[in-house]
This record gives sequence, C-alpha cells and structure tokens, in this order.
Amino acid sequence: MNTLTERLKQIRAQITKAEDRYQRPTGAVKLLAVSKTRPIEDIREALAAGQCDFGESYLQEALPKVEALAGDVICWHFIGPIQSNKTRAIAEHFSWVHSVDRLKIAQRLSEQRPAQLPPLNICLQVNISRDPAKAGVDPAAAPALALEITRLPHIRLRGLMTIPAQSDTFEQQRRAFHAMQVLFESMRQQGIELDTLSMGMSDDMEAAIAEGATLVRIGSAIFGARQPRN
Ligand SMILES: *Cc1c(COP(=O)(O)O)cnc(C)c1O
Repeated sequence: MNTLTERLKQIRAQITKAEDRYQRPTGAVKLLAVSKTRPIEDIREALAAGQCDFGESYLQEALPKVEALAGDVICWHFIGPIQSNKTRAIAEHFSWVHSVDRLKIAQRLSEQRPAQLPPLNICLQVNISRDPAKAGVDPAAAPALALEITRLPHIRLRGLMTIPAQSDTFEQQRRAFHAMQVLFESMRQQGIELDTLSMGMSDDMEAAIAEGATLVRIGSAIFGARQPRN
C-alpha cells in the first residue's frame, strides 16, 4: 500500500503530465487536497509533504481542524453546501469559498468577513449539467450574479466551480468541463475579472485539466477511499 506522501507525489506528477499533454503552462493547475472526513494526522502528513491548500465541506467537522492546525501555514477552502446560519464562521476561518450560488450568501459572507483579514476569495458554483439534484447557479444566470457579487466590498470574486453530473466516458467528462471553459471565457470577455476555474476531482481530473481547470479538488486519490459519514 502506498503512503499518503507517495500518493500526493503521484497526483502532482499526473497533474504535470496532463498540463504537458494538453498544452497547459507548467504550474497552471493548483492542487487542492480535499481533507473532509480525514483525521488531523493525515492533514499533517500532507502538510509535511509540501501541500498547503486544503478543502473541507462540513463546517462542524472543519472548525476543530482549522483550530488544531492554527500554527501551520494552511490555506483553507470551503467547498460544501452553505446554509445562511453558517456564513459567519466560514467568513472568519476560511480563505476561499468555492460553493457560492446565490447573492444572499455572498452578501452575508462580505458583511461578516472580519475587517483585519484580506477579502474572502469566492468562486461561483455553476450547475453546468443543469441537474435538478445539484447545487449551483444556472449557467445562463451566472454572469448577472457575478456582476452583483463584484460590487461587494469584503469578498473578491475569483472564478467558477462545478461538480458535473457523473459521466461514463472521458469524452463525456470533457463536454461538461468544456461548457465551463466557454462560460468562463465569455464572462471574462464581458469584463468580469476571473482567474480560477475550479473543476476536476479524483475520477475526472485529467478531463478537467484538458478543458482549462486552474484548480483541481482531489480527495480519495490522495487520502484513500472515504468512509461513509455517520
Ligand atoms: C468530496 C469533494 C471533492 C473530492 O472528491 P474525490 O472524488 O474524493 O476526489 C471535490 N469537490 C467537492 C466539492 C467535494 O465535495
């Protein structure tokens, strides 16, 4: 069995290889290690192996980890569904939020971001497959929502995020990510400043990199299969 450190190294090598294969500049794709459901010791091991960015989906579970590792240089990303009553803690403890899909949540995050901290980095979650069971703003509504969010003072819109519907083939995976790339470029052409395209997980990382991902969110390929939550 490979160690976590070895798996992390393999993932980094796969990212570099995919950047090369799809004519992406070297270093264009950032690795976010998704540490939801993982113990603090696993995060420490990844940190020791040079990993700085970590993603969490469940606030209750994340806060003790953020506190326990407060002495380390970690960039914490919130990637899970957001309820209104959780925005304050998210605004106080995270550097990035990838899962904003409505104005009200963005307004609360901006209001509640502590003044001594830099603006909170935001990605808009887009429901690119228009799957009624999935979170995210409809792609057609994304530009207008982005424009409203750019007016908020204490958050900074950085990009778009998606979790596409499950696909069976590489080509199908690419299609959904391609639609994201088209939306991303069209919003940039409308003058909205975006530099982050957050897409790709353990099972579809390569397709996402092929279609312009600048950040991939990888959990099980680094930390091993997840136990079901109880
Ligand atoms: C869990 C999760 C991931 C990581 O998924 P893996 O398949 O374990 O790589 C990425 N993004 C989001 C939003 C997640 O909830």
